[in-house]
Amino acid sequence: MTTIVWFRADLRISDNPALVWAIARGAPVVPVFVLDDHWPDPWQPGGAARWWLHHSLRALDAALREYGNRLVLRCGPADRVIPELAAETDATAVAWNRLYEGWARERDSRIKQTLKEAGITAASFQDRVLHEPWVPKTGGGAPYKVFSPFWKALLKLGAPAEPQPAPEHIPTGPAVRGDDLDSWGLHPTRPDWSGGLHATWTPGEAGAQARLHAFLDGALAQYPELRNRPDRAGTSAMSPHLRWGEISPAQLWHATQHRMMEDACHDAGMTFLRELGWRDFSYHLLYWWPDLADVTWKPAFRAFPWREDGDGYRAWARGQTGYPIVDAGMRELYATGWMHNRVRMIVGSFLVKDLLIPWQWGETWFWDTLVDADPATNAASWQWVAGCGADAAPYFRIFNPVTQGQKFDPGGAYVRRWVPEIAALPDRYLHAPWTAPASVLAHAGITLGTSYPEPLVDHKAARKRALDAFETIKGGA
Ligand SMILES: Cc1cc2nc3c(=O)[nH]c(=O)nc-3n(C[C@H](O)[C@H](O)[C@H](O)COP(=O)(O)OP(=O)(O)OC[C@H]3O[C@@H](n4cnc5c(N)ncnc54)[C@H](O)[C@@H]3O)c2cc1C
Repeated sequence: MTTIVWFRADLRISDNPALVWAIARGAPVVPVFVLDDHWPDPWQPGGAARWWLHHSLRALDAALREYGNRLVLRCGPADRVIPELAAETDATAVAWNRLYEGWARERDSRIKQTLKEAGITAASFQDRVLHEPWVPKTGGGAPYKVFSPFWKALLKLGAPAEPQPAPEHIPTGPAVRGDDLDSWGLHPTRPDWSGGLHATWTPGEAGAQARLHAFLDGALAQYPELRNRPDRAGTSAMSPHLRWGEISPAQLWHATQHRMMEDACHDAGMTFLRELGWRDFSYHLLYWWPDLADVTWKPAFRAFPWREDGDGYRAWARGQTGYPIVDAGMRELYATGWMHNRVRMIVGSFLVKDLLIPWQWGETWFWDTLVDADPATNAASWQWVAGCGADAAPYFRIFNPVTQGQKFDPGGAYVRRWVPEIAALPDRYLHAPWTAPASVLAHAGITLGTSYPEPLVDHKAARKRALDAFETIKGGA
């Protein structure tokens, strides 16, 4: 009667529908995680995400051991590994929480079929989103392409189900061979570049809960005012915990709502919950357009005259563009595996509009370097920034990296932290060092082109070039 619980992007014990179902069967439970080395190429987790996964799996195993159970690790194509493990443990059921990437849906339905043919129950559950991505539909029965009506439809569906507490017990299954986590090489060793990640994050369910409560007790009340300020800790930083399912969106939703009632911070709470709505919207788009990560969503943009500029791309990725807010963001990303949302928009706009580099190049860099690299949100957000995605900002709205910096990092604390070589510049020149008089640069110890780059492009000219490029496809966009 053994039940296998197949953990995937739900690396937690509380409010885990597959685990709740398995325990309710009253039989021994074998928890397993499969490193599916047959993940199709663009979907293999990148370096930062692999680091996170390593530590999250360790935390999940430690939590299971407190129940006298443990996490079994297996490597290989899941369509082979899961049926094999079911046979090995005499399992009569396998349970998992659903994923929405096209390849994962196909694979999971193949596995369901194989298990069924072997007389094994396969049960899957909703967990990753507030509501199943296929449920919100327009009056005409079509998927939504615009966020506001999607959000209204989501709100009409009501709150997600009340989260389940951590179980009291998890019956132990038969002893099963598992891989040693270290042998998977998820944690970088040669060299170990993860120091900044360690200093910033605590992967795992306990880390997720601690961060959530710190946010609810602190920044939530001022979220609408501070959420655009990278120089202030004004957002939740829950994204990597959500990415790996160390907390469910339902838990986040209900914890926020409780706080909204207790503290009368209704508007701030709703502004925050709306961001979870954007996350669900990304999953809605990925569900209906499974090639969202690769294929430009608005067909007219497929003829856009992108520039395959390798040098520009490398300067951008290394935080060496000469635009301080862009460089600060790219360096924050490289050091911590995360970047503030406002700055993601600024660096994204700079790449696709100022440099005219294909959005997929930016998406790929983010995929490798973000600890929260998410198949739905990363793809939808890059298409949004490029102007070619669903409900995207119009292409002609091009961020000015200088005025964005001045507006959202007014005292320059963010730039000074990540671009220390220009920290001594007075505020008025910090976001545009090339405008500083020679004497001011000399006083601050800066030689442009040596200690800090000259701007990679002239923004005004780059803006015009982008608008001209847009003219070539405008008829169809
Ligand atoms: C170019 C680009 C790429 C992005 N790539 C990713 C990615 O790979 N993974 C990822 O989780 N987010 C991505 N985002 C969205 C957003 O930047 C992050 O979710 C957010 O910065 C995470 O910080 P937070 O948890 O403090 O957010 P908060 O402001 O505290 O928001 C709470 C949660 O809401 C969700 N959320 C917030 N903003 C958005 C948004 N614009 N779209 C969808 N969901 C949102 C996230 O799950 C977030 O954790 C991207 C945005 C851009 C512009």
